Amino acid sequence: MSVPVRPAIEKLAAYKPGRSAADLARELGLAEAIKLASNEIAYPPLPSVVAAIAEAATTVNRYPDNGAAALTETLAERFGLPVESIAVGCGSVSLCQQLVQSYTGPGDEVVFAWRSFEAYPLVVSVAGAIARMVPLRDQTHDPQAMTDAVTDRTRVMFVCNPNNPTGTALGSAAMTSLLDRVGPDTLVVIDEAYREFCSDPDIPDGRELMRGRPNVCVLRTFSKAYGLAGLRVGYLLADDPAVATAVRKTYVPFSVSTLAQVAALASLNAEDEMRQRCATVVSERQRVSDALAGLGCPVPVSQANFVWLPLGEEALDFAGFCEARGVIVRPFAGDGARVTIGTAAENDAFIQAVTDWRVPRH
Ligand SMILES: *Cc1c(COP(=O)(O)O)cnc(C)c1O
Repeated sequence: MSVPVRPAIEKLAAYKPGRSAADLARELGLAEAIKLASNEIAYPPLPSVVAAIAEAATTVNRYPDNGAAALTETLAERFGLPVESIAVGCGSVSLCQQLVQSYTGPGDEVVFAWRSFEAYPLVVSVAGAIARMVPLRDQTHDPQAMTDAVTDRTRVMFVCNPNNPTGTALGSAAMTSLLDRVGPDTLVVIDEAYREFCSDPDIPDGRELMRGRPNVCVLRTFSKAYGLAGLRVGYLLADDPAVATAVRKTYVPFSVSTLAQVAALASLNAEDEMRQRCATVVSERQRVSDALAGLGCPVPVSQANFVWLPLGEEALDFAGFCEARGVIVRPFAGDGARVTIGTAAENDAFIQAVTDWRVPRH
C-alpha cells in the first residue's frame, strides 16, 4: 500500500505531456512536424542572447544569484519602480504559485475566469484553496461576474489579459471599473504573459493600471515574446513592495538559473529585435484570422500570439485532423482549439489543414 498522498493532490490529474513534434514527424515520415501548441515564439534566440548564455555556461559550478540583483535592477529602471517592488521567478507560472501560497490557505478563495490559463486551478488546489471559476462571456472575461464572485474569503483574483486560450483582452474602461470594484483585501493579479503582442491601443498596460493600487500586481514573462520558454524566467511588478516581499518569501531558492538571468538581461538589451518579431507575429495573426474567417471558421479578435477556434465538441477531432497533417495544435475537449501563430510557412500549413477540414465536411 502506498503512503497516503494529500487528498487535494491525489485528486489532480497526472501530468500528460503534449505531442512531441519529433515523434509525430517520425510517425508521419515527414522531415519535421509543426508545433503550434504551446505559444512559443517560432524563432531561435537572438545571437546576442545565445552569446550571453554560452559565456555564463562556464560558471554553472556556482549557484545563481538568489536575488537576481542585476536583472531586478534593470527591470526596476525600465518600469520606474523601486527594486523592492519587483520579484523574479522561475517562469511566471511559478510566480502564480508563489502568490497563491503567499496569500491563501485552506478555505480561502481564488477567483479567475474559465476558460483561462490552465495553471490557475492547479496552483489553487495545491495550496488547499478554493477555485471560484467565472465563465467567460463571448470568449472574454466578464468583469461584472468576476467582481460579483468576490466574497470575504476571496484573497486573490487572476485576470489573464489577453486571455489564454481565447486571445481576447479587456480594454481600459473594463479593467479600470473591475479594479475599482474589488476591495482592498483581495489581490488582483493581472497576468500579462502576452502583453507584447497587444496591438489594440485600448488594451491597458498593467504597469499603468496598478499605479496607486496596493492590491494590484502584474505578471510578465520572458517565455513568450522574448523567446526564452526553455530557460524559465518571469517577473512580478507591484505597486506595494509588500506584495513582492511576500512573493520572494515563497521563492524556491536558486530556482532561476544563472543562464536564465543572463539571457533575460541580454533580451532586455535587444528590445528592438523583440518588437520586430512581435510585429511580424501580429501581422501573421491578422492574416491567419482573416483566412479562417474566409473559411467559415471565424475566431475571436486575438491580442496574443495565438488564435482560438471555438469548435465545441469538434475540438479533439479537429486537433487529430491537423496532427495527421503534421500540425500540432492545442485542443481543449468540448471547448475549442488554441493555435499558436508560427512562421508564415507554418501558418500556411495550418490554414491548409483548416481548408481540408472544411471542404469535405461542410
Ligand atoms: C505562458 C503563460 C505564462 C508564463 O509561463 P512561464 O513560462 O512560466 O513564464 C503565464 N501566464 C499565462 C497566461 C501563460 O499563457
